[in-house]
Amino acid sequence: MAERPKMSEQDPKKRVKNFNEVALGYTKEQAIAEAKRCIKCKNPTCIAGCPVEIDIPAFIALIADGDIEGAIRKLKEKNSLPAICGRVCPQEDQCEKVCVLAPKRDSSGLAKKDPIAIGRLERFAADYEIQQLLSKPAATVPAGRQENRGSVSEPRLSVSGSPSKVAIVGSGPAGLTCAADLAKMGYQVTVFESLHETGGVLTYGIPEFRLPKKIVNFEVDGVRKLGVQVMTNVLVGRTITFDELKEEGFKAVFVGSGAGLPQFMGIPGEDLNGVYSANEFLVRINLMKAYLFPEYLTPVKAGKKVAVVGGGNVAMDSARCALRLGADEVTVIYRRSEAEMPARDEEIEHAKEEGIKFRLLTDPIRLIGDNTVPAGRQDWVKQVECLKMELGEPDASGRRRPVPIKGTEFKLDIDVLVMAIGNRPNPLVPSALKGLKTEKWGGVVVNEDGQTSIPYIFAGGDIVTGAATVIEAMGAGKKAARAIDKFLSK
Ligand code: FAD
Ligand code: SF4
Repeated sequence: MAERPKMSEQDPKKRVKNFNEVALGYTKEQAIAEAKRCIKCKNPTCIAGCPVEIDIPAFIALIADGDIEGAIRKLKEKNSLPAICGRVCPQEDQCEKVCVLAPKRDSSGLAKKDPIAIGRLERFAADYEIQQLLSKPAATVPAGRQENRGSVSEPRLSVSGSPSKVAIVGSGPAGLTCAADLAKMGYQVTVFESLHETGGVLTYGIPEFRLPKKIVNFEVDGVRKLGVQVMTNVLVGRTITFDELKEEGFKAVFVGSGAGLPQFMGIPGEDLNGVYSANEFLVRINLMKAYLFPEYLTPVKAGKKVAVVGGGNVAMDSARCALRLGADEVTVIYRRSEAEMPARDEEIEHAKEEGIKFRLLTDPIRLIGDNTVPAGRQDWVKQVECLKMELGEPDASGRRRPVPIKGTEFKLDIDVLVMAIGNRPNPLVPSALKGLKTEKWGGVVVNEDGQTSIPYIFAGGDIVTGAATVIEAMGAGKKAARAIDKFLSK
């Protein structure tokens, strides 16, 4: 059987000096060759691995036949954000993991071949459409092509005869997916976003070199073209209350407000200058475009010796941003081993290629300041003191618990430290809704349909699960859209 084609990428030596996209996508020839590797299983296992239920074998077969437009139509029946998912989904843990060709030992003891590169094919088809549309003046795009968006149903009417209105809180992947699916069903949907830009983490968190913002904007425009109204700079719970939404005729609300509350370790020195939460560091760089200084005047301390604490995508993104801002040395400090790192395999690989150092089985215990500032004013961080760890028994997450090894303290010189150890749900929405049931850690409690303890309020994505993945948030948005339709059809 043919090999899975390697996607071309920017050279590591060059890319550490720019914020341009690292992975460059498949060519048409590569995509068709890869699609032809699919063995068209009678009982395909891949679909069950996709939280938004894309008909994977069908879109792959269309690519294999050279019908790329057909493939994107098939993808968009289920997924309103394919160019995004094709880039950032952890496919190795989802559809590709359950592809029958995924590496595993068969009865003869031989490892099977690589799974089909489902994510790369999805990205190829979505990018193909974007390129086609961007290369043509709008007027020359055949009718219907510009909104290659799946079918939109007749308007769903309320008792008064006008279309039923649904409000969506947050324009991240959960909110956008719920909005797109409801709009396709015929609802009048308005997305309220507190920031001045749409996309949630896709815009303010994931850096340009992994997910170009023109791609996010294109996908958000696709959702707008379904008839969804998007209002930015509206903080639901403050700018407008939930009662006011009701008064304005919204019959149901989907809350996809994400997990944007950064966590710190609670160790001494976290209040020193030069210590960032990953959230602040990445928002300054991505949303506020600090990487385009002096065109944008957003300040961020770049640092020459940077430490990033954590092992997920957020940590990899922070480390790789620090490198691109000019750091000489960037070290990721993670308390477990590489096998337990939650980051996508590709991000870890790319970080290594770029020269990021990894201090695994290591945990910071104290941050030390430089004592150069007059008493009463704050010092800058100068060192991080760490302790070596070993792995013990599995904890509640199923991963082996890191256990400190006594007497192994050591110090690293640093001038910037980024804490990327996780985010909690933003508490504003729960505090603005009397009677809303929440978990102790702040997540909103929902039933299997995404309905909260207040019947007309639904929720999904990181606000329910805590920090998770784009596709899980989208899956929750899709499920809630179906449930809202059922709720409003009663
Ligand atoms: P969000 O994307 O957080 O969107 C919530 C939106 O709601 C935000 O725009 C926020 O401004 C808005 N909002 C909040 N409160 C209000 C309010 N009261 N009124 C109006 N608007 C409000 N996942 C992957 O699958 N692959 C990756 O490679 C990956 N990399 C990541 C890298 C980083 C740096 C981060 C932080 C996360 C990453 N994730 C990744 C996780 C993924 O991005 C999230 O799980 C996903 O974005 C959650 O989607 P969401 O819609 O629930 O929330
Ligand atoms: Fe193709 Fe893999 Fe899906 Fe089978 S499981 S249909 S080989 S993508």
